[in-house]
Amino acid sequence: MDSKCQAYFTELLGIVKTVGDLQSTASLLEWDQETYMPKGAMDSRSRQVSTLSSLAHEIFIRDRTGELLEMLSGTDGESVGFQESLIRVTQRDFSRARKLSPELVGCIAETTSKAKSTWIHAYNENDFGNFADDLEKIVDLCLQKAEAIGYEEHPYDALLDEYEPDMTSAQVTSLFEDLRASLIPMVQAIQESSSPKHEYLHLSYDGDIQWDFGMEILRDIGFDFQRGRQDMSAHPFSTSFSVNDVRITTRVNERNLVSGLFSSLHEAGHGMYEQGIDAELDGTLLAQGTSLGIHESQSRLWENQVGRSFPFWTCYYRDLQQRFKSQLGNVSLNDFYHSINRVHPSPVRVDADEVTYNLHIMLRFEIEMRLIEQKLSVRELPELWMDTMQDYLGIQPENDTQGVLQDIHWALGAIGYFPTYAIGNLMSAQIFSCAQNAIPDLHDQIAMGKFHPLRQWLQVNIFQWGRKMSATQILERLTGGGITASPWLEYIRKKYSVIYGTLP
Ligand code: ZN
Repeated sequence: MDSKCQAYFTELLGIVKTVGDLQSTASLLEWDQETYMPKGAMDSRSRQVSTLSSLAHEIFIRDRTGELLEMLSGTDGESVGFQESLIRVTQRDFSRARKLSPELVGCIAETTSKAKSTWIHAYNENDFGNFADDLEKIVDLCLQKAEAIGYEEHPYDALLDEYEPDMTSAQVTSLFEDLRASLIPMVQAIQESSSPKHEYLHLSYDGDIQWDFGMEILRDIGFDFQRGRQDMSAHPFSTSFSVNDVRITTRVNERNLVSGLFSSLHEAGHGMYEQGIDAELDGTLLAQGTSLGIHESQSRLWENQVGRSFPFWTCYYRDLQQRFKSQLGNVSLNDFYHSINRVHPSPVRVDADEVTYNLHIMLRFEIEMRLIEQKLSVRELPELWMDTMQDYLGIQPENDTQGVLQDIHWALGAIGYFPTYAIGNLMSAQIFSCAQNAIPDLHDQIAMGKFHPLRQWLQVNIFQWGRKMSATQILERLTGGGITASPWLEYIRKKYSVIYGTLP
């Protein structure tokens, strides 16, 4: 870069960091809102977050950002150098942001803010009709957004691109078809087998003891408490204000021994990814997960491939048993392992087991596609939901709260988000199997409580890059190809054949 370009780059970096500081300050306020903020502060807090976010947006989309990008354009599209990557990623975000008119952005913000409270009310009262008007508006706004951003084949692609750059709805459709074809017979075979005992997981388990056990495990797996914290919130989440300040939350249920721990492991997987991003990228657009699918692959990997594995409990079960002698004293390691991996179709996505989880996502993706294609009206949703649940999982929710109203995502305008959960599941199996090839005694290491080799491998191959490498580049580098369903199916078949007998 000559000195003139260097000066342009320094100016661009200044803008990007200012925008980043405003956004991470807004995120800090949002974290506080979900953890410690007194309820009465809701109105002032919403205003503060909205002021900071709009200010960040306004600074980012100024003409000057575009001029600088124009003068710096022509860099290598694949390079992982700091400057080239930052210019490329900023260009991408800038052109997306500029395609949306301030009127449309304002309208989306206003509609979703209202829809969020309508949804809470509809959810609590089991009253879909109450939410339907807002959802109709949101679908319409998402269509307008897709048209403004532009797409080659399908309007859904423009929406998906926000969360999973590089992927199209056609790819997701074909991936999910492969998945469905193998998964449905497996779920049926599992349902015909006898189910492991699990009642003891729902005895009373002291919350403080659960919390301490979870914190020790987080330290062992390598979540860095010098650069992060864990707190409680109603809905577990992770957020980051810097690579040196990553927050995760969990919840503890005294009537469910493992749900809090698995939430913690899940969020710590997200958190360790953020903590592992190269410090040079801090404060810029590069210091984020490269796609929601890759992000979710990291949380799922620690929650499922590690946390729900037999080697993991070989290491930790005796300790857990000591802490809960009266509840677990007579439960063997093998029985415990089976019970935490019990497959049980449930109407609610967040309660779903590892095997049936992806079916919940396919159902949502199908519905979203039809809404965006305008082949389905919002009013028809509750009925279609019931029918599809019956087809996929063989069950029907008791009401809309347990059905179509269960997730907040649509109220937030996030159509195109759900597929990334399943994409993350599939990627987690691809990535874990690469890690196993690289670390042949990985399971033995886990059984000894040694997580450093796995974390280090993820650090080198995934964490450090942030957005310098796309999801496609990361997978290509590791597997020589793109995303596929077969490693995940293979993992599920092998693991659950041990518990339920041979699966198709
Ligand atoms: Zn997650």
